[in-house]
Amino acid sequence: MRTIFIVVAFFFALAPIAEGATTPFLDFPLSCPSATQGKCSATGYIKGAYTPASMISVLDHHMEKPYGDDGVVTAFTGEEGRATASKPKVNQGCYPQYSPNPGKSFSIMGLYIGSNDGCLADQGLNYDNHPAYDYKAQVGTPVYAAASGKVVRIVNKATGFPGRCVPKGVETGGCGIWGYVGIDHGNGYITQYGHLSRIDFVSGDEVKAGALIGLTGQSSPPKKDKNGKITNLYNVPPHFHFEVLKENAGSPYGYAFVDPYGWEGSPKDDPLEKATGIPNVQLWKTGAQANPAEPKVSVAPNVPLSSTAAPPVSAQTYQNPFAYCKAVVTIDMPDKRYTGTEPPPAVANALGHTAVTWRCADGQVLGCYGGASGRACEKMQTSRTPSHYIVQFCVQNPNSDFVPMAWIGNSSSTWKCNGSVPAILKTYPVDKRSFQVGSWKPVITPKLITTQVPPNSTTALPKRTEPAGRLVY
Ligand SMILES: [Zn+2]
Repeated sequence: MRTIFIVVAFFFALAPIAEGATTPFLDFPLSCPSATQGKCSATGYIKGAYTPASMISVLDHHMEKPYGDDGVVTAFTGEEGRATASKPKVNQGCYPQYSPNPGKSFSIMGLYIGSNDGCLADQGLNYDNHPAYDYKAQVGTPVYAAASGKVVRIVNKATGFPGRCVPKGVETGGCGIWGYVGIDHGNGYITQYGHLSRIDFVSGDEVKAGALIGLTGQSSPPKKDKNGKITNLYNVPPHFHFEVLKENAGSPYGYAFVDPYGWEGSPKDDPLEKATGIPNVQLWKTGAQANPAEPKVSVAPNVPLSSTAAPPVSAQTYQNPFAYCKAVVTIDMPDKRYTGTEPPPAVANALGHTAVTWRCADGQVLGCYGGASGRACEKMQTSRTPSHYIVQFCVQNPNSDFVPMAWIGNSSSTWKCNGSVPAILKTYPVDKRSFQVGSWKPVITPKLITTQVPPNSTTALPKRTEPAGRLVY
C-alpha cells in the first residue's frame, strides 16, 4: 500500500498537468449494478466514456446563457436541432434534428436515446441551452466521484449562503432544492452532479475518485406561470445530470461550462468555444469504466432505496429467473448471480412489454412495467415526514393545493401545503418491501417460452402517442 502510494506520488511529481493542455481525468460517475435498475446499455463511447445509463439529453454547444433559449441545440458531434416556423420555441426548447437528417432524432454516435420532440413527461430531454448531460437512471442509482477532489464551497450570490455547488444559472433554488453537489478537482475543473436524492458530503469534504457520493433522484421543477403559480405537473422522468465546469475569469462565479466529450467538429466551428474562449477537449479517461457490472465502491449499508446488500449466499449463478428466485428467496434488485437474459423473456411475456423490471419475493418472480419513467416500479419512501424538497416547496409556494410529483419523488404519499407547512393528501399502500401495491405481478413459470426478447430492449422508449406525421416537415 505504502509502496503504491509513493509510486503514484512520484509519477505525478514527474508528470504535472501541463498548462494549456488537459489530460483526460474523468471516470464515468454512474454505475449500473443491475440491468434492471439503470436501464443499462453496454454502448461505449470510443474515446472513453461509457453510458451504463443511456444518454437522454446532450450538452448544447449552441449556448450562451445556460437554460435560456436561442432556437438551436448543437451536440458535440455537430448534430443540430433547430426551431423552425412550423416548430417554434415550444416544449421548453426541444427541436428535431436539423441536419443532416431533418426531423430525425439525434444519434450522438448511438449513445442517445432521448426524444427530440419535446421535454414532455416520459420522453426524455433534449432541451435548449442545457449545459450538461442527462442520463437515464432510476431513483436510487449510486453516483461516484468522477475524480478526486474537494466538495466545493462557493457563496451563492442569490442566497448569500455557502453552497456545495457552483450555482448553475437557475439561482432561485440553489444547490439544495436541485440536489446538486460539485467536486473541485484542483486542476481548474469542477464536476457537478445533479438531481440527487441523497448526498453524502458537505462543502469542503475531501472526496476520493470513485467514492460513493450519493444516489440519483428526481428533482426537476414544476412549471410556473408569470405570477409564479404552479400550472401543471412537470414530471420529468428520474435522471442523472452531470456537468463539467472550468475556471474562467469572465464567467459568472468564475466558471464556464465545458463538454467532457469534447468537440468532434473543426475547432473553429465549436459555438461553445466561441462563447467561452475555452477549447472543448475530451476529458473522459480512455478505456475507463467499461460498463461496470458492479459499483466501484460498495454501497453504504444504510442505502434507503435499494437492497443491493444481499445476504451472503453461495456464488452459484442462475440463467433461469425462477431457479434464481427460489434460491435467493427475496431480493429487490437481482444481482450478478442471475446471468440470464435481461429482462427475462418470461417476465416480458407475462407483462406484454419489454421495458420491465423484476425482483424476487418469497421465492417467487415478480415483474413490473412502470412506463418509460419506471416510477410505478420504484421502491417508495413510506415516511410520513415530508422530505427536504417537499418542505422547501411549501415554503416557496404556501397554500398550494398540491405538491408536484417531481418534488414528491418516491414518497408513497401525496402532499399539499397548509400555509408553508406540508400536509398529507393521501397515502398509497405499499407491500412489505415498500413497493406500490398493484404495480408488481407474480410471474408463473412458463411451460414453453416462444418469444425471445432482445437483451437490450429495456432501453427502448414506448411509442409516442402523437401522430407520426408531426415530426416530419
Ligand atoms: Zn440536466
